[in-house]
Amino acid sequence: MMTGLMTGLDPLYWMLMLPAIGLALLASLLTKGTFARYSKVASSTRITGAQAAERLLRYGGAHDVRIERAQGFLSDHYDPRVRVLRLSPEVFDAPSLSAIGVACHEAGHALQHAEKYAPLALRSALVPVVQFGSSLSQWILVAGFLLMGAGSKLGATLVMAGIAMIALAVVFALVTLPVEWNASARAKRLMVDCGIVSADEATASGRVLNAAFMTYVAAAVSGIATLLYWLLRSGLLGGRRDD
Ligand SMILES: [Zn+2]
Repeated sequence: MMTGLMTGLDPLYWMLMLPAIGLALLASLLTKGTFARYSKVASSTRITGAQAAERLLRYGGAHDVRIERAQGFLSDHYDPRVRVLRLSPEVFDAPSLSAIGVACHEAGHALQHAEKYAPLALRSALVPVVQFGSSLSQWILVAGFLLMGAGSKLGATLVMAGIAMIALAVVFALVTLPVEWNASARAKRLMVDCGIVSADEATASGRVLNAAFMTYVAAAVSGIATLLYWLLRSGLLGGRRDD
């Protein structure tokens, strides 16, 4: 990215981003570590991830959701466009507390979708906008700062537009938090209600989901740090202005 040239040598950038990068690293290690730990613990019912998800979906009344085996470690997700729950082999086939936790969390998203849970609808609506904006915002910022340097008035407008796109990505990351938390809360509750695991086992499964939630917190923190950096650098916040 060209903005790398603008940010890489800036101590302010690293001052803001290093804590966020550290948190993301910690969350990732914690997620993988907790998942590995409870992958070795089989549930007393020996129900696999796929079976657990299916039972949860039926219990919650989401009858039109398909469950598929997908490739990729921890690639598990629910696709609301086609109502398909894709589980990785480590989750689909395993009767472990980790597999059950992840499978029930993804089923939780399908239940959110079925009952039109508002934060999920908002998040889905933001996906295309944020995807478009995140690839474009970097270039708009580069162009904006170059034009500002050349004395063009258009530069400031472009910088504002780039920052607005980054702000939208932060909104997306923040809306993701209640969606993820709620899917895990449903999973923890329903996996006991459905007789998939005991209450004690649900606590262990829940630890995997709590660790995974940290990765979403880290993403939000990183987004806020990025936004703060560009606000400071553009002079919209504080006194510094690079033009
Ligand atoms: Zn999720």
